[in-house]
Amino acid sequence: MPTIDNYAVFGHPISHSKSPLIHHLFAEQTGQQLSYSAHDVPAEVFKAQTDEFFKRGGKGLNCTVPLKELAWEYADHLSDRARISKAVNTLTLQADGGILGDNTDGVGLVNDLTRNHQLELFGKRLLILGAGGATRGIMAPLLACQPSQIMIANRTVSKAETIVSEFTGSNNLSSCNYADLPGQQFDLIINATSASLSNQLPALPDTLLAKSGCCYDLAYSNQPTAFVVWGQTQHAAKSLDGLGMLVEQAAEAFNIWRGIRPDTLPIITLLEQARQTSRLPT
Ligand code: NDP
Repeated sequence: MPTIDNYAVFGHPISHSKSPLIHHLFAEQTGQQLSYSAHDVPAEVFKAQTDEFFKRGGKGLNCTVPLKELAWEYADHLSDRARISKAVNTLTLQADGGILGDNTDGVGLVNDLTRNHQLELFGKRLLILGAGGATRGIMAPLLACQPSQIMIANRTVSKAETIVSEFTGSNNLSSCNYADLPGQQFDLIINATSASLSNQLPALPDTLLAKSGCCYDLAYSNQPTAFVVWGQTQHAAKSLDGLGMLVEQAAEAFNIWRGIRPDTLPIITLLEQARQTSRLPT
């Protein structure tokens, strides 16, 4: 039997993941004993590898690109926010042997936007680029902040339409493809595509960002992502990447697993300092 509790993150690719570092910093800060490792797990072997992880005594698993929908299907039970988002980033072994699926991405993003960066979302026009698992996860917490509008633009527009149709009752929601964007303006543009992982960017018109508007890339990198650079060229008041969201969603997962919420700001500050001096692992 393992002497300390084991946690892990599965994804494909995974080499960029800073989750092991973050969870070890949380453990140190809160005086918890645990191990946390990253594993490259393509979708085809997700179920077998996840079965094996829990069979070997694993306590909790984070799932990232492109596994969140598969993790949603895998879970025996779902939290309300995971059920509505149809995407799971946190699996937890429960006392009865069942696996609980949760989604901490949305609360992580909103905490980073509103607490760490003091961005007001109430009454604002929001554009989300991409309609994958991350977009599903952030929808409900963003809607709860009562923006005046959320538009989802996606390369495969049917996926954006499906998400919009699942959040019925929100009459300020709409979907489109990138070709429909010229002529529209938004106060906050959130890049939830995985294009940044390959340093790409969907084609965006120069008039898209309102004056004093902000850009937020869910992806993060030691160098500014293509979308963060785009935001800077558009004179965004803030053009941010997802490092803070990563820490915030991890803190929520840590709280689910260990029953204690880490203080995120010192960890974010430490990671920011490390990346400015190129000491953050790539
Ligand atoms: P998915 O694989 O589920 O979805 C990817 C989305 O990106 C799809 O909408 C896809 O469009 C779109 N896309 C991919 N490549 C391109 C391209 N070249 N041009 C235009 N659109 C493209 O990924 P997730 O939703 O799980 O993750 C999205 C991003 O969010 C990733 O970069 C991930 O790292 C990041 N993320 C960060 C978190 C954090 O804590 N900071 C947490 C969660 C996610 P289509 O449907 O047409 O294929």
